[in-house]
Amino acid sequence: MQILIIGTGYVGLVTGACFAEMGHSVTCLDIDAGKIERLQNGEIPIYEPGLEEIVKRNVKQKRLLFTTDYKKGVSKAKVCFIAVPTPSRDDGSCDLSYVLSAARSVAEVMTEPKIVVNKSTVPVGTAAAVRGAISEVLVRRNLTTSFDVVSNPEFLKEGAAVQDCLKPDRIVIGSDSPKTTEVLKEIYSAFTLSHDKILCMDVLSAEMTKYAANAMLATRISFMNEIAQICKQVGANVNEVRKGIGSDSRIGYSFLYPGVGYGGSCFPKDIRALISKAKEVGVEPSILEAVDAVNLRQKKLLGKQMIGYFSKKGGLNGKTVAVWGLSFKPDTDDMREAPSIELIEQLLKEGAKVRLFDPVAMPNAKKMLPDNDRITWCSDEVDAATGADAIALMTEWKQFRLVDLEPIKEQMQGQAFFDGRNQYKPAEMKGKGFDYISVGVPDALQQK
Ligand code: NAD
Repeated sequence: MQILIIGTGYVGLVTGACFAEMGHSVTCLDIDAGKIERLQNGEIPIYEPGLEEIVKRNVKQKRLLFTTDYKKGVSKAKVCFIAVPTPSRDDGSCDLSYVLSAARSVAEVMTEPKIVVNKSTVPVGTAAAVRGAISEVLVRRNLTTSFDVVSNPEFLKEGAAVQDCLKPDRIVIGSDSPKTTEVLKEIYSAFTLSHDKILCMDVLSAEMTKYAANAMLATRISFMNEIAQICKQVGANVNEVRKGIGSDSRIGYSFLYPGVGYGGSCFPKDIRALISKAKEVGVEPSILEAVDAVNLRQKKLLGKQMIGYFSKKGGLNGKTVAVWGLSFKPDTDDMREAPSIELIEQLLKEGAKVRLFDPVAMPNAKKMLPDNDRITWCSDEVDAATGADAIALMTEWKQFRLVDLEPIKEQMQGQAFFDGRNQYKPAEMKGKGFDYISVGVPDALQQK
């Protein structure tokens, strides 16, 4: 099928490439001319495992094209997917301006019936707003061309986006038209041989499903972070407690890892958007507000622990901290709302110097951090640790588990290791001469 994907970011580019891989003819469109030029020149503007290979293969086979031209993109396509940003406004509500602008751009050039599919994460009621925006333009253009608007939220995870897209847990299609639903099912038929993975529902429920899913996952993270803080105070080890509760089949192990708080381009903004929507419709979002508040507190936790540790050593002023990992999670270069930013800001405020390393996210991190002569960008984790008083592990990249820590310790000035992801064993770290501090483990147990 001829498909247009509007917005060539983490979702749009991955979805477009995967649709092409499944045999569809796909045009990926973006208003960022620089991004499209890079893609046309064979350069992949984001880091996502497996993406480059699949893009290159499908470009070569002429199933995947890139353009900035709405007229060209819309004219060929039967179905237009919108995958543009939906950031938070200052009050936490969802900013729909990119989505509505994309919808109007389609309406400005369409001359035949189209199916417009919303893949961006949007509050309940957005499909109706998109329908209204398209109708307005068509009326002005004196056209009565028919169109339909579908909600098809995306559930891929950055870092595993290609696999998630090719082998989805489920595909949610929200449409009030059986005919349109069939077209969407046809598009996705190659992705899922078992049709029970396709969940067809009304538009409003589909829109709500995406927010409810992200809210549930974020709730588990904040819940576990709060449990971790209680564990530390009462002398329990959260790593044991996690296994103890995860083994209950009603609970399960996933999303129960305590850490430095959730970040990224989805959870923080989606929780806030759902809070805003709940208030708008007269529901008090008590749980959601607590999830957000716990997360903000958790993002400051490692910084607070460092201030406490160094208070007995003359304070953080003038000390050097190596930060291992900057992206909000491994296998991505996405720095949006990354907990590392919060920590680095805290450390700079305390007068510390920071030596930063991330395997792929440094170019994006450089855009987000201020120019400061107390920031040093390092070539690897060993370089970052050289001369440091402490290491802070912020992102659980695999390579940080494979390092030989003893020689690293020799090159450091101090011996503190703040493990924001509970990647190491306290006893081993003690044996290697570190003062090891992780999340949710009391001091007495850290050193055992
Ligand atoms: P992104 O910022 O990586 O990419 C969005 C792209 O849209 C950018 O390249 C931008 O230039 C382009 N764009 C903006 N306005 C446009 C317009 N009017 N016409 C054409 N292109 C336009 O965003 P993303 O991370 O891919 O997220 C897109 C949507 O998908 C958001 O609503 C997000 O919440 C949702 N989502 C994201 C993820 C994820 O892991 N990133 C997962 C599921 C859902």
